[in-house]
Amino acid sequence: MKHTEPYQAAVEVVRKLRDAGFQALWAGGCVRDLQLGKEPKDYDVATNALPDEVRHLFGKRHTLAVGASFGVIIVRGHQPDCDVEVATFRTEGPYLDGRRPEHVHFTTAEEDAQRRDFTINGMFYDPINDSIFDYVGGKSDLQQHIIRAIGNPLERMQEDKLRLLRAIRFTATLRFRLDEDTFHAIQTMAEQITVVSPERIAEEMRKMLLHPNREYAMELACSAGLLKPVIPELASLWETEGSLSLWQQTLKRLEILQTHHFETAFAALLLDLPVANDQQRLETVYQICKQLRFSNHELNLVHWLIEQRESLQGASSFSLSRLKRLLAHPDFPFLIELVEADLRSRNQSLADLEFCRQYRDHTPIEVLNPPPLLTGNDLIAAGIKSGPQFKELLTQIQDAQLEERIHTQADAQALLEQLIKHK
Ligand code: ATP
Ligand code: MG
Repeated sequence: MKHTEPYQAAVEVVRKLRDAGFQALWAGGCVRDLQLGKEPKDYDVATNALPDEVRHLFGKRHTLAVGASFGVIIVRGHQPDCDVEVATFRTEGPYLDGRRPEHVHFTTAEEDAQRRDFTINGMFYDPINDSIFDYVGGKSDLQQHIIRAIGNPLERMQEDKLRLLRAIRFTATLRFRLDEDTFHAIQTMAEQITVVSPERIAEEMRKMLLHPNREYAMELACSAGLLKPVIPELASLWETEGSLSLWQQTLKRLEILQTHHFETAFAALLLDLPVANDQQRLETVYQICKQLRFSNHELNLVHWLIEQRESLQGASSFSLSRLKRLLAHPDFPFLIELVEADLRSRNQSLADLEFCRQYRDHTPIEVLNPPPLLTGNDLIAAGIKSGPQFKELLTQIQDAQLEERIHTQADAQALLEQLIKHK
């Protein structure tokens, strides 16, 4: 079998450590992914070599001491995707802030397995002799499709609360089951997810919502009691008597949604936000995105998608200028994904949406979004001073162009003169 370059690079790292007399094994996520027949995103090597020994062996210039105090060194590959993380076998001292151990001790592979989060993430693999080292029952859980904490689930969740969300993410994205004791531990600890930084929580939300199994992820997060502390504004969707259907509606929408885009999926999650009116809806969306420390780009897009969620309604009777402006919007492809999932989840007519899609697909871009016939400079040349009417005039001229009432620059000049005269 032919292996990828990152795979080969990670084999070479193991070989070099072995040749120097150290133990070295692949560890964690890559071992899991290979057994699932999936291409790992990256390869992690675990070794008994100390961080300094790793740096000495590979050379300072070819290594980065990213987390030397935790025993982590990056060995640079000949291309960026061939970097390999080399970590010294370690156990972790007490967790002080619910997220990070106070200190680590360097130790054996077997003990290193015990500090990992879930059994399927706790295996080692020797790529040279093709053998698995499984000290935690990972292989059997992988075969039975179970996510199970290593050791005492409650203690493991108490140590590091990010594991609460990781458990949901792995269960959902792999479409596995959560072991019952692990699930109960998560339920018990759920409210404490808020000790994890909003950025890290948001990162987990991104991974869950980007995945096609996003519906399963949100259902699990909700039933484990994790979604409420993360987005309290949504809670009445499932807590209010009689409104369970709104949450079911949301899950259905997420299930139907076809997107590769986080903002679209997040907007789909927030679409039925229980609020009094549209203004409050947009304010709440803003607050949620801010609270999760979304980038401005993410925030603006989620906000726009929710604001525009009904803007396709009645499209076939829109003026051409209104229709073309909507369809030419750079984020329109995301809006149409969102609206489609929403309409389908409520068994509503897709006629407006199909009309938009047809029109867009059959209209050349120079008709849909033509370069303007006149610009601000032309207005200045015509002696118009900049001010509120400036933009208004340009819009009126562009409307006429989009509505195909005028076609040339001369037409536009003539219209401009008319408009000025009528002022
Ligand atoms: P993916 O990269 O696909 O999200 P992964 O399992 O590779 O999954 P990483 O965050 O890259 O996840 O971590 C690599 C390995 O480190 C994990 O497989 C696990 O063994 C261990 N690990 C990561 N985060 C934790 C944690 N919070 N608690 C305990 N062990 C962890
Ligand atoms: Mg990984």
